[in-house]
Amino acid sequence: MSINEQPSLSGLSSSNLGYPRIGGNREWKKALERFWQGSIDESELHREMKRLRLEHLSKQRDKGIDRIPVGDFSYYDHMLDTSVMFGLVPERFNYRPVGPVPLSVYFGIARGQKGAAASEMTKWMNTNYHYIVPELANVAPVLTENKPLLAYREAKQELGIDGKPVLIGPYSFVVLSKGYNRKDLGAIIRTFLPLYAQVLSELAAEGVQWVQIDEPVLTTSFPVEDLEIIQEVYEALTQAAPSLNIMLQTYFGSLDHYERLTKLPVQGLGLDFVYDDGENLQHISRHGFPKGKTLGAGVIDGRNIWRSDLNAVAALLSQLAEQIPATQLIVQPSCSLLHVPVSLDAEHKLDRELVHALAFADEKLEEIAILTAALGKHDPSALAMLEQSAEAVARFNSSAARVQTAADLADLLAKEPLSRSVPFAERRVIQQNKLKLPPLPTTTIGSFPQTAEIRKARLHYRKGEWSAEQYRTFIQQQIKEWIDIQEDIGIDVLVHGEFERTDMVEFFGEKLKGFAFTQNGWVQSYGSRCVKPPIIYGDVSFDQPMTVEETAFAQSLTSKPVKGMLTGPVTILNWSFERNDIPRRQVALQLALALRAEVEALEQAGIRMIQVDEPAIREGLPLKKEQQQAYLDWAVQAFLVTTATAQPATQIHTHMCYSEFQEMIQSISDMDADVISIETSRSHGELIVSFEDQIYDKGIGLGVYDIHSPRIPDVSEMLGMIQRALRVLPSDLFWVNPDCGLKTRTKEESVAALRQMVQAAQAARATL
Ligand code: GLN
Ligand code: ZN
Repeated sequence: MSINEQPSLSGLSSSNLGYPRIGGNREWKKALERFWQGSIDESELHREMKRLRLEHLSKQRDKGIDRIPVGDFSYYDHMLDTSVMFGLVPERFNYRPVGPVPLSVYFGIARGQKGAAASEMTKWMNTNYHYIVPELANVAPVLTENKPLLAYREAKQELGIDGKPVLIGPYSFVVLSKGYNRKDLGAIIRTFLPLYAQVLSELAAEGVQWVQIDEPVLTTSFPVEDLEIIQEVYEALTQAAPSLNIMLQTYFGSLDHYERLTKLPVQGLGLDFVYDDGENLQHISRHGFPKGKTLGAGVIDGRNIWRSDLNAVAALLSQLAEQIPATQLIVQPSCSLLHVPVSLDAEHKLDRELVHALAFADEKLEEIAILTAALGKHDPSALAMLEQSAEAVARFNSSAARVQTAADLADLLAKEPLSRSVPFAERRVIQQNKLKLPPLPTTTIGSFPQTAEIRKARLHYRKGEWSAEQYRTFIQQQIKEWIDIQEDIGIDVLVHGEFERTDMVEFFGEKLKGFAFTQNGWVQSYGSRCVKPPIIYGDVSFDQPMTVEETAFAQSLTSKPVKGMLTGPVTILNWSFERNDIPRRQVALQLALALRAEVEALEQAGIRMIQVDEPAIREGLPLKKEQQQAYLDWAVQAFLVTTATAQPATQIHTHMCYSEFQEMIQSISDMDADVISIETSRSHGELIVSFEDQIYDKGIGLGVYDIHSPRIPDVSEMLGMIQRALRVLPSDLFWVNPDCGLKTRTKEESVAALRQMVQAAQAARATL
């Protein structure tokens, strides 16, 4: 569209839904960790947090955002903030909330404390952010403080900003909690309503105009009968504060119950127009949008890092403006910007062409401001920027960086074997003849402790202080040390230990084609832990062997089998920022083909077992039920492309964690791995149960101890776990292993625990 054709949407305004907490240089993380270590005190922590909070608010104002969220900032997690605001301190912390919950209790719930385990954490919807799961059992909610009100006052007093308080809505809050029976959902939600009512009426009394109430569960396939309680909730909340405007905010997808939800007694509805497969726009065109209500149009991608074609977004906004007066239309990101890095300012090393195609949080706010100025005020320089962004995006999409060498994958797949040449029952015999493993074989999941010494060595190497040869020698020493340890302990299937890897995705990304790495592209994963996901910008392909040297070296030191260790295609995809110009499935298949080349290289080097980790397979599962099977189908396909050409004698392992497997057991079985190892504590024995139904009938290693805790379980406890499993599982398919990699544990803890584990396996064998 040319500049003059852009519609004039006078009265259009802008908003943001949430801003990253971590700071441009991860100051937030550093302050928290210093506090936990005891090197700063509580008042210094509060000072630093306040400084960051205010800095983030002024930044949003300076970028020209009209409605600035307040109260989205957190010392750990916004769900945990809500829990403590409602006094939900689990009994084991021995604390009865009266006023504001002290920081020590807050961090205790998040991280555990002496005598009281931390609350569970889990993935926030389908993102890689983890929230602390509220525990509702045996506690009556009480309002300990009005956190959004405090945030609002602070922004007003310190900066003169009339902020928009953000709260997680009662429906999503309770649905995402645990410790109650689903059939009591309505009753539980009702116990929270008076507290929400009080929060909102106090906000109204303070003069707040708009409040943002997040209800992310509304974009999932929630039971239709929940609509009644949702209706009841919003009736109660509007009655509690009639003068307040509620923006009911949804994100990560479209609304299945658009007509019902638009009728809720709220003043505004926030919709995602990026991850909705075009459905939200269709709903609006088909059913209209209620008169008098405000639409928060989530048109800028809040969770991926690509720059927007603002011309295209302007076209979408004009379409919306046909139904909704511009004064009731708000330009905003599709979700909170919590999920993207802070700013491109620090990226000096990235390819310039790529940088011009990216937008992190700050740049996204600029995009929102540009759109608002261009369409709302017909600002000439903003209008010119719409054009510029369209050109930049088009230029990048047709650049060499994107490549389009990948043959049509559909064709390619038609030629590819998508199952192994021999079925599991036969492979098993072939493999066992070759491997001669004892019953209940013992193994580990791959990584051994990443000690300070290893991190230091890597730093020396990265800074150029060590030569490649020095670093290689160091890694080989580590491998040798741990091969000796494993042999000494008596483990049956050994691993090399993954000492050369920083991170299971970054390591492969750095060696494959099509990936880029930022210097400072951190996002919060959980608590103070941040991750720096690689960017998949172009076609992914194999360049050279990635793991053969270390694996073959380890194998050369022992006559026991060493298991090669790869990260699977779906996990690499789910833990990266992915390109948005081709379907995800296609990227997964490109990754699979590249990893298959690695499987072949390992086989050629004489490796007899290869584990392809897919811990993240579950988190890519679409929120909508009807889309889940298609995802699982291509995820399985990608795993098979990676592994199916392996020789029948090569034993393929896989590993999954953080998973609830219920709905995906058939798919896991279709992956046709010879052995799967899974985390037990959080998978609730679902795979064991499915053995009873004979859905899963291949090798299985149930984690016999939890590596997330420094506690070393004794032999009898692990033996008990093994025997319980053997009541259901055939003993000739059962493996004994910890439930995840040991990289976060110390050497002493790992060695002690593995010794006990081997003893437990021996004791179990004696009873067979
Ligand atoms: N092989 C990896 C490790 O041991 C698996 C990690 C994971 O499951 N997240 O660290
Ligand atoms: Zn794991």
